[in-house]
Amino acid sequence: MSQNLQAVRGMNDILPEDAESWEHFEDIVRDWLRSYGYKPIRMPIVEPTALFKRAIGEVTDIVEKEMYSFEDALNGEHLTLRPEGTASCVRAAIQHKLLAQGPQRLYYQGPMFRHERPQKGRYRQFHQIGVEALGFAGPDVDAELILMCARLWDDLGLEDVRLELNSLGSSDERARHRAELLAYLEAHVDQLDEDGKRRLHTNPLRILDTKNPDLQGLVEAAPRLVDFLGDDSLRHFEGVQVILKDAGIPYRINHRLVRGLDYYNRTVFEWVTTRLGAQGTVCAGGRYDGLVEQLGGKPAPAAGFAMGVERLLALWSEAGGVAAPEAPDVYVVHVGEQAMRVAFRAAEALREHGFVVLTHCGGGSFKSQMKKADSSGAAMAVIIGEDEAAAGEVGLKPLRGPGAQQILTIESLADAVAESLFPEDDDDGDL
Ligand code: ATP
Ligand code: MG
Repeated sequence: MSQNLQAVRGMNDILPEDAESWEHFEDIVRDWLRSYGYKPIRMPIVEPTALFKRAIGEVTDIVEKEMYSFEDALNGEHLTLRPEGTASCVRAAIQHKLLAQGPQRLYYQGPMFRHERPQKGRYRQFHQIGVEALGFAGPDVDAELILMCARLWDDLGLEDVRLELNSLGSSDERARHRAELLAYLEAHVDQLDEDGKRRLHTNPLRILDTKNPDLQGLVEAAPRLVDFLGDDSLRHFEGVQVILKDAGIPYRINHRLVRGLDYYNRTVFEWVTTRLGAQGTVCAGGRYDGLVEQLGGKPAPAAGFAMGVERLLALWSEAGGVAAPEAPDVYVVHVGEQAMRVAFRAAEALREHGFVVLTHCGGGSFKSQMKKADSSGAAMAVIIGEDEAAAGEVGLKPLRGPGAQQILTIESLADAVAESLFPEDDDDGDL
């Protein structure tokens, strides 16, 4: 017997009940982004593999082991399902010369793909909302990006999301720090785990980011990047903090926050919660001034962040924010050939006025249809039998509150529905 086909491990179906919450969440997110003047951009899900290698860095978890890469069977191109959006967004901005029109505030959302070990809050297909500010050099835009996150947590009613902040300085400053860090780690090489030993000569900064509890003492005492920052980097870092303090946003400077991608410089930040177990980072970002040039564009500064939608929704649902599924305003019940035709006219007349209408499909007795009307959660039923149909009339019956059935013409139906849904309103049901 053939086995039923299943979704790929770590790639989830989002079923209607959850998908409604997703849409509600996306509505809030869109309004929030608009209120900061960010514009949508949509990029392909598949990109040339070289884009991610160049943007994210060869010696990163993503490029080393997490990418879904394949050869196009038809023409042999090396392609990858995008593991993140920044590289694509910058690629698109360069390709279409968006920066020639001035700095750009952009956002996108959609699925990302990483071959990781699936667990709570960590999937192989997951979703991000990405926000990128291209062409802005100052600490003001870094602070704006952080401030806008804080406002979203507020809009969603999320508590317990804390801000961690660090500066990675410039590449020169990182190089000087790297030399000292390397010397320090080499002197303690016997204490490093396998991953640490492997990273020692490729990407020692990432060792600071280790989650291995045995290494915490070692990395706590390691040389700190902040001690290698020059005046410009320090002033930038200070500039971000002044605005955060003015806005009353608490933060903690985390010297070990180095981020997993190579392209960051200066400001980096993460929003973390203790409510989601091990996968506690809901949003991460920072400045990446070198990336536009690295991908072949005219040099331009940039900063941005990405939020993990699954993790945010888990947090939102814990905070009780997820909305109850929306019930229809009206369920249309009809028995008989003529009645069905009137039912379609009545339903469309109501939708014309903006009402949410479920028309019964599939036949059945009045009794069984009324049961369906009731369990749909609709506020009212429109009822049409052969007699009503012959007279060009419909019945309107409240399903949730008191009130008798009214007999109405199709023309007067919308007003009657409006009156019974919004009895306090004076106007005649314009939604
Ligand atoms: P982590 O340390 O958890 O692996 P990361 O540094 O790889 O995170 P980023 O590349 O910065 O994550 O992505 C930004 C956000 O996207 C993360 O903070 C997280 O909320 C979310 N995210 C990243 N990878 C996954 C995944 N596999 N499943 C679900 N969400 C994810
Ligand atoms: Mg990761």
